[in-house]
Formats: sequence, structure tokens, C-alpha cells
Amino acid sequence: MVEYFSNFFKKKRNLKLVIGALAVANVIGTSAPSFLGVHAESTDSVGYETPATSDLTLEEIRNLIYSSDKLTEEEKAFIYNEDMFADILPYVNQSEWMKLTYRSKFSHMDIIGYNNIIANILKSDGIYHNMTPSNLYVSNYSGLADKDPMAATLAHEEVHALQRIQDTFSQESDSFFLEPTAEMIAHEYWGAPIKEYKEEIRLIRILMEIIGAEPIKQYIFTGDFRMIEERVRPNLDEEEYAEFLECIKEDVSGQNNLRNRRMIGIYRTLYENIYGQSMLKDEVITAIKDDNNSLQRYYFNSRLGDEYFILGEYVTDENGRTTIVPIRHDIEPIASRENMFMHTNKIN
Ligand SMILES: [Zn+2]
Repeated sequence: MVEYFSNFFKKKRNLKLVIGALAVANVIGTSAPSFLGVHAESTDSVGYETPATSDLTLEEIRNLIYSSDKLTEEEKAFIYNEDMFADILPYVNQSEWMKLTYRSKFSHMDIIGYNNIIANILKSDGIYHNMTPSNLYVSNYSGLADKDPMAATLAHEEVHALQRIQDTFSQESDSFFLEPTAEMIAHEYWGAPIKEYKEEIRLIRILMEIIGAEPIKQYIFTGDFRMIEERVRPNLDEEEYAEFLECIKEDVSGQNNLRNRRMIGIYRTLYENIYGQSMLKDEVITAIKDDNNSLQRYYFNSRLGDEYFILGEYVTDENGRTTIVPIRHDIEPIASRENMFMHTNKIN
């Protein structure tokens, strides 16, 4: 695991306070105009004509980030997470719109601290909003320090800068996909602890186990929903698919217990229609659902190995002492589950 949290970030810098009404009012609002005043759905993938530009390379991203005069060297190194960019750029390069926004936002990145009072009002340790696409807002930020708890928040907010732009005009929310994946990516590439959105992470992981991780990556980095639709729609009846769409549009900020239960029900149907057996028999999904810590499974960073332990295997040694030995199982890689979709859309 990339352990930025054990690194030493010694430099401190002055806390910048966000006093602008813009930041306070707009960062969490859903009625503000989106970045550049362009409707977020107006990407090239849905027919917006943009001239083709060269693909983004790691070198270009690195140069853009390192050209910022607002970041310390430690912050530049933190923001330029090479493994992560190497994995994300192939998606980003499918979209002229995403390339354009990356080139613009990464050329003058800034990290802006805000104080406790504002954090309490916003009820958030960090904020990213496409009104200010180059700014990562982190509460009580005073520069990266060793094992700084705010570094996890910083990583989470940076991932939001990498994701497709949230459609701020729409009443519908993308937070079901964007929030848990931000937390997962911060965990897998920076080693950040999972702090928030645990229930939503569970739901996204189960969905990735059923239909593969690829469609979700496509969606969050390009805005293209078609791959999710192709894998889900043929495996649900019309009513269930409508319910699926309704559930994923619900914002994650409220109490989503009912939605979460409905999602598990939809997943069971989806699983049965794809794999021809009950989801309850799937050891990996059961471990995720029960959150029993027997499963180390990664979805974005392929450099990390999956591990799956069945806890509670009792072994008695020659002295009669009984110990619990974790048994490691080889688990089915997501890639082989994804192969299901190369041959057929529906198996039953
Ligand atoms: Zn977030």
C-alpha cells in the first residue's frame, strides 16, 4: 500500500480562512451554476462537439501540478499520485470534456483551509465544488504533517476533482457513486483510513462484485452510464430497473436505510439472473455484507493484492493449546466475473 500517512511532511503553512461568501454559499449548494456555466451532461459523450486534443500523459499532469505556485513541494508530491493517475488517465482520455477540465484545474491547484466554525456549519471536514475547480477545501488544514488526519480528507477531496462533474442543475444526485468511490480511491492509493460513507461503500462494492468494477469506473471518470445500463437493465424487469435508477439517484447525505435495503433486494435479483444462483452463496459478497473484516479486496489499484480469510479455524497444537488460525482462500478475481459479460448478457 502506498503509505503517504507514514511519510514526514514537515512544512507547515499558514491557515487560510475561507471568508468569501461564495465558498460558503456555493460549495454545498445544489442550485449554483456548474463549472464554466455549462450543463454537466454536455460532455462529448452525449454529443457536445469539441475538437480532438492530444491525450493527457503522466508527464503533462505532473508538470501541471508542479507548476502551481500555491502548493508546497510536499503537497505537490501528495497530489501527484502517479499510480492513481496512471490508472485513471485511460478513462479521462476517452472524453474531450474531461481532458479539458483536467488541463484547466490542475494548472493552478490550491489547498484552502477553513476553520472549525465553518466546518460545523457545513458539517464537513472537506469540500470540493466545481465552481472553484482548482481548490481543495480542508477544515483546519495547516500543511501536511506526519499521519495528519486531514491528509485523508485532502485525498478524498482530490478524488472529487478527478471525478466527472456533478450536475449541479439537476435535482438528482450522483453522490451514491461519487462519495463512496472517493473514499475507496483515497484508501487504495494513499492508504487513507475509511472514515465516511461506510454503508454506501458496501453497496458500491457489492455492485462491483456483481457487474464488475469497470462500468463504475467508466461512469465516475467519464460520465458514461451506458456500461452500467448494459449490465443491469437486461437482468432486471422493467419495474426493478426503474427502482434501481431511483435508488442510485438518492443523495447519500440523509438517512438511507430504506434505500439501502431496497438495493440489497435488487442486487439479489440481479445476481440470480446473471449467475443463476443465490447471492447468499457468494462468499465474497457475504463477507462484504457482514463487514466481518475477513476480506481485503481492492477495486481500483491493481497493485494491491486481494486477500480473503475465513476467520475462526481452530487448530490445537501438540501442547493442547487451541489457537485460531486464519485460513487464506484464493478469491475469484473481479476480472473473471467480468468475463461473464463478454459472452452473454443474461444467463438464465
Ligand atoms: Zn466527498
